[in-house]
Amino acid sequence: MSENKVALVTGASRGIGRGVALKLGSLGYDVAVNYNSNEEEANKVVDAIKAYGVNAIAVKANVGERGDVNAMFRTVVKELGRIDVLVNNAGVVDDAFLLMLSPDSLDRSLNINVKGYFYCAQAATLKMFKAKKGVIVNVSSVSSKMALPGQSVYAATKGAVNSMTATLATELAPYGIRVNAVAPGFIATDMVAKLPEDKKAEYLTQVPLGRFGEVEEVANLVAFLASDDASYITGQTIVIDGGLSL
Ligand code: NAP
Repeated sequence: MSENKVALVTGASRGIGRGVALKLGSLGYDVAVNYNSNEEEANKVVDAIKAYGVNAIAVKANVGERGDVNAMFRTVVKELGRIDVLVNNAGVVDDAFLLMLSPDSLDRSLNINVKGYFYCAQAATLKMFKAKKGVIVNVSSVSSKMALPGQSVYAATKGAVNSMTATLATELAPYGIRVNAVAPGFIATDMVAKLPEDKKAEYLTQVPLGRFGEVEEVANLVAFLASDDASYITGQTIVIDGGLSL
């Protein structure tokens, strides 16, 4: 087993999670790349990480299923030895006006964006307790800080992430575990690509820096929060949005 730190990034087959997994690999972490359905893309991420000379594995799990999550953590510890960093990133958005909101969509968002973060935080903390050291970084959203019509469920799930981040930081600080969140604005991923063109153009006009963010920019922030350079930062939700929420 290598001496490298080990990071698990959920939802790392694409988008922000992929960027975070690659960044952590480039910094010398062994990385577990979680995915839900996209095995081929996850394996490509694993190969790209291994090119940095570190170890990486792809692990399939629906983070909204507790059984999947526990099995995933068993695999990661068996294959990579331990868990130093958890990045709770896997998330879904399914915008709808309140009266159009379907119960299935509501359950799915709550299961993945909220319960999934708790399941993973619980499983990671069980491992981190023993080491008396660990870091959890939760990927929230600027939607938790500003009101956008149609995003009541998504915003509520991300508001829950911010609250759990602050509370868990106080609970876990005595055990050497830091917990922070990042709240991105519009980042150029599949999630934003799926927005209607007129919406994208409208949103762009609201970003003072005049462009959507890149996954690498979010990955740099997550990597900083995961590192010892951020050793006195815990419980915070750090906005990275090009000024959108100002
Ligand atoms: P994305 O491009 O749609 O990618 C989503 C990732 O999550 C994929 O790897 C997907 O895996 C995985 N995933 C989805 N459901 C899952 C489940 N049930 N279990 C495990 N993995 C699952 O999303 P993104 O834009 O990178 O967003 C990542 C995170 O950033 C989310 O929490 C999102 O809310 C947040 N965020 C994004 C933006 C943005 O502008 N993009 C802004 C603010 C916050 P498969 O490929 O296997 O389906």
